[in-house]
Amino acid sequence: MKRLFVQGSSFCDIDCDYCFVRGRNDKARLSLDYLHDVYRIINNSETDVEIVWHMGEPLVLGFNFFKKVLEYIPVSEHIRHRIVTNGLLLNDDWLSFLADNCISLTISSDGPIEVHDRYRTSRKEAGTFEVVHKNLCRSIKKGVCDSVLCTITKESLSKAAQIYEYFSSVGVEYLGFNVERQLDSPEIQVLSLEKFDSLELFWKDLYEAWEKDSYSLFIREFYRTLSALNSDECPLQPDELKSNYNYSLSKNGDLYKYIPQIAGSDSLVSSPFFVGNVKNLNSFEETSELPVYSEMLNSQRLCSEKCDFYRFCGGAFVLEKLVENGMLNSTSTAACERQVIQLAKVVSRKHG
Ligand code: SF4
Repeated sequence: MKRLFVQGSSFCDIDCDYCFVRGRNDKARLSLDYLHDVYRIINNSETDVEIVWHMGEPLVLGFNFFKKVLEYIPVSEHIRHRIVTNGLLLNDDWLSFLADNCISLTISSDGPIEVHDRYRTSRKEAGTFEVVHKNLCRSIKKGVCDSVLCTITKESLSKAAQIYEYFSSVGVEYLGFNVERQLDSPEIQVLSLEKFDSLELFWKDLYEAWEKDSYSLFIREFYRTLSALNSDECPLQPDELKSNYNYSLSKNGDLYKYIPQIAGSDSLVSSPFFVGNVKNLNSFEETSELPVYSEMLNSQRLCSEKCDFYRFCGGAFVLEKLVENGMLNSTSTAACERQVIQLAKVVSRKHG
């Protein structure tokens, strides 16, 4: 299985304060011509592919666009489509269309209204909770939404239990957490999360809410951490370090490898990951590993030698190492603290 992340447009109908996607006012969209090329590449390739529409709001592309997408790249036993959405446009027509065509949804929600509406706002600064909540519930009921992504912000830090209860009450099965961050910028500004103690407390409160609920939800971060804890060796090979696994297509047909968020970036950071334009490619396999890949593996080796938390992480955070440390051949980033170390400390203590 490979994953192809596609940016159909960088435009978004809302304007979350913490969003790092560039060009959120830019309505330019992926030319459907490129989808012919994508289909050729998939057909000439050896494994199944999940196409993930993300980075910008995919649903603003409209029905007709996605109907065409399915004409050009039909769902089959080898090809799946997934849309990562802010959930605002999900009316009955969309839900029927997605269900009829077996397209899965991942919805972004930050939890209860007081947390969600702090940063997930419209361009007029209006909260989006009410609509997203209604659409999240309908999508789950319809069997279309199988996962939710929640961003941890300053607002969330003291509200882990409420966040857990909210997602449990709406029937979410799979929950993943990202910690608010700014990528693709030399000045990493992590809003108000400099104090890692508060984040540790967040993970602890969340874990306790999960424990109290008999571990009912699938929480990605806890499952990964527990599987590392229960294994003698590092059980993780981060997706971005898997050979020929992640690809990313930007709206101008340029294909990148390894890092999902790289498409759409106009920064120099993206250039080592550039593979070529889909017009000039025939299969994923013909795109041999880029020179940056051996640097990534060296950096992973360095992590395995130097970091006490390697087994919980597998030496990931390639983009963060580049942006925060200015080089790949490095370890320790703020992202390590936020996404791995504080979490591992909490779960390890719980399992004593
Ligand atoms: S937490 Fe950071 S330093 Fe440790 S293994 Fe992961 S990427 Fe490397």
